[in-house]
Amino acid sequence: MLSYRHAFHAGNHADVLKHAVQSLILASLTVKDKGFSYIDTHSGAGGYALDHEWTQKKSEYLTGIAPLWQAREQWPELAGYFAAISAMNSAMNSAMSTDDSPEQLDFYPGSPKVAEYFKRPQDSMTLMELHNNEVELLRENMAPQGRRAREHYSARSKGPTIHHQDGFAGLIGLLPPTLKRGLVLIDPPYELKEDYQTVVETMAQAHKRWPIGIYAIWYPLLAKDVDRSGALKSALTNSGFKDILCAELSVSEQAQDFGMYGSGMMILNPPWKLDEQLKQLLPRLAETLGQATLEQELATKHAAAWNLEWLKKA
Ligand code: SAM
Repeated sequence: MLSYRHAFHAGNHADVLKHAVQSLILASLTVKDKGFSYIDTHSGAGGYALDHEWTQKKSEYLTGIAPLWQAREQWPELAGYFAAISAMNSAMNSAMSTDDSPEQLDFYPGSPKVAEYFKRPQDSMTLMELHNNEVELLRENMAPQGRRAREHYSARSKGPTIHHQDGFAGLIGLLPPTLKRGLVLIDPPYELKEDYQTVVETMAQAHKRWPIGIYAIWYPLLAKDVDRSGALKSALTNSGFKDILCAELSVSEQAQDFGMYGSGMMILNPPWKLDEQLKQLLPRLAETLGQATLEQELATKHAAAWNLEWLKKA
């Protein structure tokens, strides 16, 4: 049974890394007029109200998107990501007829809403989600909301195709997509240990069907006793893809037995210059999102770190 609900974690440091990378890739795909395909294998609910009781439970966004949003003029490299956040806030305020400014961070876009911002009429978007309740929320959140939003989205052509199904198997059935360039975002919760192996098997099959697609795979960095990121990275190195870039952001120290201290994105066939963009971005994210223990605070230190490496380069 699936128990993971992304609302508990919306806007946290892992979302910032994932959605910043997703936005940079999508922005690069919009440089050419030719349409692209966007496929999201694990979509979640699409977008999140930050005042929802689940999100408020640990308020993870306060140590994630919130400090960046407050100083957004200092992050020109994240302009596309911030524009996607503004677009969702503006559409929701219009739908709910509130006068709140889109500059106020009331809502946070999940990966489908981020993608929606970049989607043009010539592009396609396919979203998959397995959880019964999450897929219902996804359908609601991706429906055009409010008059302004309806105008905005109908000008951007038809909405996404949403499938209530297993994203791994579903992905293979969709490859190769009709539009031959594009991005697949793979963002499993890894609540099942098998998810790691399934990612690896799925990528080997994906390589056979669509070797030129861009694939962005999120993974957690966990406590020493349970971390599997190293095994995942080495297995993916043998998946057939020739260019694999890996970006990691950790915000606290790695514990021995429990907890997530950061996360990573593996990008297969990354767009040109993404490595240079991330080389600038990751140190700044680590500096801003690092979480200090009391002892570290007293020593004005924190345990944040970043890593950018080519696992494979043709
Ligand atoms: N990608 C979303 C975002 O960035 O906003 C968050 C996704 S959340 C981390 C993972 C989602 O995958 C959950 O909503 C969960 O219900 C769903 N899920 C779990 N196993 C799945 C599977 N095999 N196929 C599709 N969805 C799955």
